[in-house]
Amino acid sequence: MKIKDLDSSDDFEISNHKKLDSILVDLCKLVIEGQKKDKDQYGMVAACVLDTDNRKVFGLNSPGPDGTRRHAERVAIEKYEAKYGDIPKGSIILTTLSPCSEEMDERYGESCTDVINQSNVRKVYCGYTDPTQEEEQREFNIEETANSQIRDMCKKFADTFLDNVSECAGVGIITKQNSTVDVNKNTPRKNLKAFRLV
Ligand SMILES: [Zn+2]
Repeated sequence: MKIKDLDSSDDFEISNHKKLDSILVDLCKLVIEGQKKDKDQYGMVAACVLDTDNRKVFGLNSPGPDGTRRHAERVAIEKYEAKYGDIPKGSIILTTLSPCSEEMDERYGESCTDVINQSNVRKVYCGYTDPTQEEEQREFNIEETANSQIRDMCKKFADTFLDNVSECAGVGIITKQNSTVDVNKNTPRKNLKAFRLV
């Protein structure tokens, strides 16, 4: 996490994980419902803005203009703002997949990381960490659930559209292999750091 222009009123602390996990379960249900309802309309990522008054606004990956897709985080933030105005400081965004940060042709608008950076939100709780996205641009604290069942479910959703590690690794990877990084098949996140694309 990069803390730029840190304001003492900014709240980065993620707490009440039990409640956050139950919202992640709701998000998983939302993805499944969307798939049942209309696979073309709804995508495999869901997100929620949870504000300091405990108000929840949900979003699901949805079609944008010219064949683009509106990512779930953008959908949730825009829905929140349309309903309640600016998201107050101290609010948190939950998402089944960590926010994107890279250029993507299919995505409507800037990355979800940029959208969140521009908001008052300084904390994100995710079901699964997208291994294909850089983390440098983040100006918020992010945590992945410690609940392995939720994580597995969120990973399953993400794997339907993410290339797997060996595929995205391609040619000329592992030029930055770090001997201190523990490559263990049981810790995919560490593996992915070890095999980061250069
Ligand atoms: Zn995104």
